[in-house]
Amino acid sequence: MKITTDVSRCIGAGMCALTAPEVFDQSEDEGTVVLLDETPPPELHAAARRAQQLCPSGAISVSDPDGSPAR
Ligand code: SF4
Repeated sequence: MKITTDVSRCIGAGMCALTAPEVFDQSEDEGTVVLLDETPPPELHAAARRAQQLCPSGAISVSDPDGSPAR
């Protein structure tokens, strides 16, 4: 799993940091997303995908480098 974030789209809603705090944080200045781990371990994949789904601005992208569905 590889995660990318687009800070220019982020509206600072904070759902990502609440949902997957090991993977996402928010900047103290603007509240925008800070990606802590762009290749999280398998035990964090479900939380990372959930954060992607909950993000209201579509600022989070999740891909699987080998093309297989995330588990
Ligand atoms: S959930 Fe989306 S909009 Fe909210 S802080 Fe995270 S990346 Fe930004």
